[in-house]
Amino acid sequence: MNENIAPIINLGDINKCPKQKKQYSFLLDQTDIPLDLPGVKLDGPVTADLTVQNSDGIFELFGQLSAKLKLNCGRCLVEIIKDVDYHMSEKFIVGKNQKHDDEDIIVLEKEQLNLLDYIAEGIEFAIDSKVVCKEDCLGLCPGCGCDLNKGSCTCDLENIDPRMAVLKNLLKK
Ligand SMILES: [Zn+2]
Ligand SMILES: [Zn+2]
Repeated sequence: MNENIAPIINLGDINKCPKQKKQYSFLLDQTDIPLDLPGVKLDGPVTADLTVQNSDGIFELFGQLSAKLKLNCGRCLVEIIKDVDYHMSEKFIVGKNQKHDDEDIIVLEKEQLNLLDYIAEGIEFAIDSKVVCKEDCLGLCPGCGCDLNKGSCTCDLENIDPRMAVLKNLLKK
């Protein structure tokens, strides 16, 4: 394993390796990763332990991503730090004229693979939409928007649309 600074893999190198396979370990600064998720930020560096293997001209990239994310609980909106792990798996070929019938294969123009975009994508996939601060989070009161983890209120919950809670809490800010 070698520590790399820029997450660029030169696919030409792989063919010179035993079994045409190479392992990489990256520690990536969070500011380098173009994460495109509203309300979600990286909290610290991202680690990526990846293997690239050449299988008959198709470069398979697979391995583990680990990151810490700062985001809001899907129920009570409190800010939380969440560890996420994602197993990534992508396939690449080099050159537009290569023949393949797998639609998932990404075609690269050069033998260079910059991992930044794929890593950002992997992290985006890793977050499921309902991240909560704790499994039994009570969320917000659908009536007044108060945090029910911190105490109860006097609302009559039977006649209230739960979707209003999040809205009311947002309006308070
Ligand atoms: Zn919560
Ligand atoms: Zn209430």
